This record gives sequence, structure tokens and C-alpha cells, in this order.
Amino acid sequence: MLEVRDLSVKYGNFTALHGVNLTVNPGEIVVLLGANGAGKSTLFRTLSGLQRPAGGSATWNGTPLTGGKPEFNVSHGVAQCPEGRLLFPQLSVQKNLRLGAYVHRRDPAGTEQALEHVYSLFPALVQKKHDPAGSLSGGQQQMVAIGRALMARPQLLLLDEPSLGLAPLVVEQVFQVLQQINQEGVSVLLAEQNAFAALGIAHRGYVMESGQITLQGTQNELMNDD
Ligand code: ADP
Ligand code: ADP
Repeated sequence: MLEVRDLSVKYGNFTALHGVNLTVNPGEIVVLLGANGAGKSTLFRTLSGLQRPAGGSATWNGTPLTGGKPEFNVSHGVAQCPEGRLLFPQLSVQKNLRLGAYVHRRDPAGTEQALEHVYSLFPALVQKKHDPAGSLSGGQQQMVAIGRALMARPQLLLLDEPSLGLAPLVVEQVFQVLQQINQEGVSVLLAEQNAFAALGIAHRGYVMESGQITLQGTQNELMNDD
């Protein structure tokens, strides 16, 4: 499980996360709701090993994620799909996907299997596999970004605002795939501003405001809170 305990992050004198406590149990989809600037990306960057915390801890099945080595986190089962997708626009869809398999460099057969799995989750990408990623629609680029994270065959997938800028129908498609991945055994932590859509697929959620968790509960508890 993911255990975040009393996690604090500072940018200079500014405290972006104040003692955050959060868990994701095996098999769960957990949503982290919060407005722009709440600290969601800071938490995700910290869980991905891109940002060192000022205090507290974050572990996946007991393994610390805060050592500051993103490759370590990925090879221990935690992969991130960052906000804004961050694809290489001139490289083909397939090359972008292969970049996500970098932790399995010595396992070409596993890489091919992972590619087939991504194409089965996102059939729309099959026809586009040799096209530059930058030529795809926003929704398809998001699929490539999620697919690239899945190429590492993670146990925990961190998704930072995957619905950003996408049409509602495309958001629904992407969220359906997240449910499918989850049923295949991947735990998911999903950061979203779009509370309604995200709570529809989540088992539990947290609300973050100004770097602190201010509410937590099940889908029903969060939806009925006023
Ligand atoms: P969210 O993802 O919820 O929009 P962020 O984690 O991006 O929130 O930002 C949380 C707070 O930290 C904001 O006030 C933001 O301006 C600030 N912040 C984020 N990144 C940096 C940075 N690299 N340096 C200084 N302040 C930052
Ligand atoms: P594209 O069709 O977009 O060129 P390919 O998947 O055919 O993408 O190839 C991408 C690059 O990855 C090529 O340089 C190829 O030689 C290399 N490659 C092919 N198979 C593997 C593999 N199993 N693991 C790592 N690299 C590979």
C-alpha cells in the first residue's frame, strides 16, 4: 500500500505541503481533489522522486519513495503520468510508449507484451503508432501518456489531472480504461479538479486545500458533503 505520513514540502520559505497523511490500499482507485495551487502536483512529484520533502515519509509497500531517484520509484512499481502529458511531439506514438519501458531495458519480450497491452486498452492508438505524437488529438495524447506510464508495468499509477482540457466523452473513455486497469490489479491515485467525474470511478477520496488534507471519505460522503 501507499502510505504518506506527515509529508511536508517547501519551495524556499513557502510551504507547499503541510503534514499530508494519505493512503492507497492495494486495488483501490483514490481521488485527490483540489483547486489549482492546492498542492496536488507537488505531492505527485514527491511520490515520483522528483521533489525532496522537508519532512515526513512516503512509502510503497514499505519502500521509501522520497530518495530523490525517479528511476528507483518506477522500478519499485510506482509510475507517474504527469500533468500536461509531456510527450516528445516529434517522436512516433510507439517510440513515446517505448520510452516508458526504460526500466525493463533487458526484457524485450516483456516490452512487446506491454505494448500489445497498451494497444488493447487504447485501440485508437493502433492506427497512429507511427505518427508523431504531437499530431494526435488531445485525448489521444493523454492515452499515449497513460500508456507510456503503463509500459513500466506499475503496481501503483499516479495520474495528475488526466481530464485536463478533454471533452467529457473523452474523459469518460479515459476513466473507463482506468477502471479496467484497476480491475487488472493496478492501484490508482488520481488528482483531479473535476470532482464529479472522478468520484464516479473512485473508491475513496481526499480534498486538498492550501497544501493540507481538509476532508476525506467515500464517494458518497464526499458527494453529499456541503
Ligand atoms: P496543484 O497541482 O494542486 O495545482 P501545485 O503543487 O502545482 O498545486 O502548487 C502548490 C503551490 O506551490 C502553489 O502555490 C504553487 O504556486 C507553488 N509551487 C509549485 N511549484 C513551485 C515551484 N517549483 N517553486 C515555487 N512554488 C511552487
Ligand atoms: P517506429 O515505428 O515509430 O519507428 P518502432 O517501435 O518500430 O517505432 O521502433 C522504435 C525504436 O525502438 C527503433 O529504433 C527500434 O530499433 C527500437 N526497438 C525495437 N524493438 C525494441 C525493443 N524490444 N526494445 C527496445 N527498443 C526496441
